[in-house]
Amino acid sequence: TQLKVGLLFGGRSGEHEVSIASAQAIARGITAPENQSKYSLTLFYIDKNGVWHPPTVSQEVLAQGVPLPETDIQPAQLWQFPPEAAEIEVWFPILHGPNGEDGTIQGLLTLMQVPCVGSGVLGSAVGMDKLAMKGVFGQAGLPQVKYMGVTRSQVWSNPCVFPKLCDEIEATLGYPCFVKPANLGSSVGISKVRTRSELEAALDSAASYDRRIIIEAGVTAREVECAVLGKEQPQASVVGEISFNSDFYDYETKYTAGRADLTIPAALPESVSQQIQEMAIQAFTTLDCAGLARVDFFYVESTGEVLINEVNTLPGFTATSMYPQLWEATGVPFPELVDQLIQLACSLE
Ligand code: ATP
Ligand code: MG
Ligand code: MG
Ligand code: MG
Repeated sequence: TQLKVGLLFGGRSGEHEVSIASAQAIARGITAPENQSKYSLTLFYIDKNGVWHPPTVSQEVLAQGVPLPETDIQPAQLWQFPPEAAEIEVWFPILHGPNGEDGTIQGLLTLMQVPCVGSGVLGSAVGMDKLAMKGVFGQAGLPQVKYMGVTRSQVWSNPCVFPKLCDEIEATLGYPCFVKPANLGSSVGISKVRTRSELEAALDSAASYDRRIIIEAGVTAREVECAVLGKEQPQASVVGEISFNSDFYDYETKYTAGRADLTIPAALPESVSQQIQEMAIQAFTTLDCAGLARVDFFYVESTGEVLINEVNTLPGFTATSMYPQLWEATGVPFPELVDQLIQLACSLE
């Protein structure tokens, strides 16, 4: 008999469109010939307002690849779930960013008492918040860039406090530094800054996205990523490298075709690849991640140093995304990857 899989996509996040693209690929994986006898697929689209749509509408959105427009909604609509949701035996949420990757949906599905692909509440929440994540990495002894945390209220406070805050950032981190909303992805809201006025503008911009803001010392390094799959005994994939011509790996570079190149496996000394794989598994375990995560690193070639940048607990999952490509190159084809993730969600360990 087929297991009823509920694929949850879209979501109230800036990464809504990416989620639709990921869901298209995963839907193909779940319905691939090798998985057909195992799973039946039901689609649930969450629109930009946060409203869940029934499988018929969701199917249409997935097929068209176009989000439903934002509308005015009643609070009661957020409490309504399509009746088909009650029949789901395992959930596959492929929602990127806030309200999906951050433990909120994971909490809801835990309350429903149905297994769910990926990390639970703790791993998702800590993995999403860059300040919480880096605090835990630091405790675990994982090397990373120097950083500082500030809050929106400090940035938008009275005009006497703000210059002191900027002084402190300049003194602690110097330029260039990166200003980021703590809870986002796809480089949304991130600025690389080199001057005081850029720093001020970047803090103001980041504050418009999040209450919590992180500022990091900028490093000059190669960008490499490693995929992790598993639960109690997580495995690491081969390492991949991203190269691009822009100032940094920003939103446009990520989502404009031809702007970035993935090299899989990355051309690295064997000892460096191994170190990255070990650090990826350590990061996964220390954050209590489960199922999947893509761990991003900086490799400072001149010194041989490897710094951890971040964990993404629901990474981009289109057919050309880094996460599935890393597994493909490690010997796990896309349909088998999707199958393993669903099996891991259902396992009790
Ligand atoms: P993702 O889409 O991977 O979830 P994100 O929004 O979580 O992205 P980061 O991965 O933290 O953001 O940063 C995005 C990009 O900005 C990095 O890939 C890198 O190009 C650049 N970057 C971020 N932090 C630094 C840093 N401290 N030094 C140098 N470059 C950085
Ligand atoms: Mg991220
Ligand atoms: Mg992300
Ligand atoms: Mg990243």
